[in-house]
Amino acid sequence: MASDDVPSLSPSPASPMATSRVDVFWHEGMLRHDAVEGVFDTGHDPGFLDVLEKHPENADRVRNMLSILRRGPIAPHVNWFTGRPAIVSELLMFHTSEYIDDLVEADKSGERHEIAAGTFMSPGSWEAALLAAGTTLSAMQHILDCHGKIAYALVRPPGHHSQPTQADGYCFLNNAALAVKLALNSGSCSRVAVIDIDVHYGNGTAEGFYSSDKVLTVSLHMNHGSWGSSHPQKGSIDEIGEDVGSGYNLNVPLPNGTGDRGYEYAMNELVVPAVRRFEPDMVVLVVGQDSSAVSSFFAQMHVDYLTEHLRMGFFTIIVLVISYAALMALL
Ligand SMILES: [Zn+2]
Repeated sequence: MASDDVPSLSPSPASPMATSRVDVFWHEGMLRHDAVEGVFDTGHDPGFLDVLEKHPENADRVRNMLSILRRGPIAPHVNWFTGRPAIVSELLMFHTSEYIDDLVEADKSGERHEIAAGTFMSPGSWEAALLAAGTTLSAMQHILDCHGKIAYALVRPPGHHSQPTQADGYCFLNNAALAVKLALNSGSCSRVAVIDIDVHYGNGTAEGFYSSDKVLTVSLHMNHGSWGSSHPQKGSIDEIGEDVGSGYNLNVPLPNGTGDRGYEYAMNELVVPAVRRFEPDMVVLVVGQDSSAVSSFFAQMHVDYLTEHLRMGFFTIIVLVISYAALMALL
């Protein structure tokens, strides 16, 4: 909890939410990650296609989020901040040195590497991954320093599948988990809640905090189960954490096609009570846009409920860092 010499981030329900301003953290270098073209996410060219498909995690997706934020209806409410690369010592807050060394060596080779199924490291990818991690850390530090109530880290490559020792699902470094660690190490946060509404299970974040009672990890996702060696976690309701972390991982698998009412029910009946009971000092939202009905990726869940629950006009893949007080004011 907050001590006398650090700013308090505890909930203050009476404080008005600064919905008129969102601080967005971004760096152009993240566009240089080339996830390769081919058949879906394989990078494979069968030799008979007129047009190779863009990888689902491609730079244009974020370019359009930028254009929305820069020229869309909420543009007047956005304050822009330039992100920065993370340094290796920061990565070790969540990842093992062996795993980071492997990524560094893969980058040094200057060649394309498939780090995990569908997860390609090309020249420029490591620089982008460091920028995604560092930019997210900057967003968290911004909140910890009480410069704002909501900080939006618009970053790619994404991170929530990345585990302490393992890349997975287009993710190299777990940006949100690193931000959680920064918050816990800051001295002003003793408990952090992560709410992940990406359509896939936030397995990397859950794995990293599976034995912790300092981090409540919550994930709403389609019921896709495990997918290969890089993603052994099932995302099922019986994965609740272990040891002192038992009860601090809440999985909410949802059937494909779950709509607003289903999401709203899950939020009202499961997520909000769990977060309130946990009484976090900070909330990190992992906001994957692929659960949206307008997503070209999965488009299985219509998530307009978010505009009612969070009163936000935009969402994108990455992480949204928000103080608990701000979240309570939004709900
Ligand atoms: Zn996803």
